[in-house]
Amino acid sequence: MNNSVVQPILEAIQQVVGGCDPNHPVSLHEPDFRGTQAWEYVKDCLETGWVSTAGTWVTRFEQELCTITGASHAVAVSNGTVALRLALHLVGVCPGDEVLLPPLSFVATANAVAHLGAVPHFVDIEPNSLGLCPVSLTARLEAVAERRKGVLVNRETGRRIAALLPVHVFGHPAEITELRTIADAWDLPLVEDAAEALASWRDNIHCGLFGEIGTLSFNGNKLITTGGGGALLTNDAVLARRARHLSTTAKTPHPWTFDHDAVAWNDRLPNLNAALGVAQLEDLDRRLHAKRQLAERFGRAFADLDRVELLTESESCRSNHWLVSLRFRAKDPEKAESERLQLLEAAHATGLLLRPIWTPLHHLQMYCDCPSGPLTVSEDQAPRLVNLPSSPQLIEGWHS
Ligand SMILES: *Cc1c(COP(=O)(O)O)cnc(C)c1O
Repeated sequence: MNNSVVQPILEAIQQVVGGCDPNHPVSLHEPDFRGTQAWEYVKDCLETGWVSTAGTWVTRFEQELCTITGASHAVAVSNGTVALRLALHLVGVCPGDEVLLPPLSFVATANAVAHLGAVPHFVDIEPNSLGLCPVSLTARLEAVAERRKGVLVNRETGRRIAALLPVHVFGHPAEITELRTIADAWDLPLVEDAAEALASWRDNIHCGLFGEIGTLSFNGNKLITTGGGGALLTNDAVLARRARHLSTTAKTPHPWTFDHDAVAWNDRLPNLNAALGVAQLEDLDRRLHAKRQLAERFGRAFADLDRVELLTESESCRSNHWLVSLRFRAKDPEKAESERLQLLEAAHATGLLLRPIWTPLHHLQMYCDCPSGPLTVSEDQAPRLVNLPSSPQLIEGWHS
């Protein structure tokens, strides 16, 4: 192993997260309920018996989400994947359609498309935010898209192009204003995967509110967690009403009759989980502050290293700094990847559980035959990126 590459990087990480040992490993992002009212709120569910998919904590959780994000409507659901699937269904994605999305995301983004019987169509990213690239998107649409009798069709596959699904990666807002303009120009519904972007903003608009619907996740490793959970954000009252209806078996309201007016889902978030969510949302500012401090400390620790750089907040954006990401700068991506592997091995041996960015979705066996534009930037970036431990509790004194 070439220690001269890895050692200074490891030392910089340890400078921020402190000493660690393999018996007490430091994970990427861990849940923490200390300093919150979580226990009280969960106890309230147990004492009242309201533990399932109705109850006041769900309503309160949705209201708090609206207050924090500025959304007119929030609909809480059981995880971020079903939030995406429901959002895509609501904007009209049907079996056999294509949905445009970036290949650098968690697998759930593509899975939600596939769950509807639709087909992911990959478009390249840009290297600053790691989000969908507006220039590549326009180029791709101009290359393959054509309007036939009012329907946007991929002329290479004959399938309808039904929606645009950008992702805000690691809490950094994508170039969503530009993407919105392109979606409008092509008359494409815009659904944002904002699973990682609660409390991330661009031009003072919360991620997820640039298009028809945005989705959040409250999975165990996210900024705040409900154990498992997700939500749809929208400013459209009709979409919100339909989201609520379709996430609760499309039951028509009646005191005793079981009447349902559509094939729908059981997607609602249980009250028990929502109670955890309310407790953490109340504590959101403190968490965000700690995460910003952590990102700044990493920034200082890495300032003098030239083989790597940290991803930073873009202009006119506010990131929640969900995960701090390190990029290997070697010109050749294969060299960057081998340096990254050395770091991963050395870090895991000391108990620092760094994680590389996801395997690009178009390399996965389920999605390797999907339509795609050129993915040059994605191919170049994927081998370079590794995430560092980013839990707010890594900041000392955070609990006091
Ligand atoms: C976490 C995540 C999801 C899925 O959320 P779950 O709650 O785990 O189903 C979707 N997209 C992205 C980008 C995510 O990070």
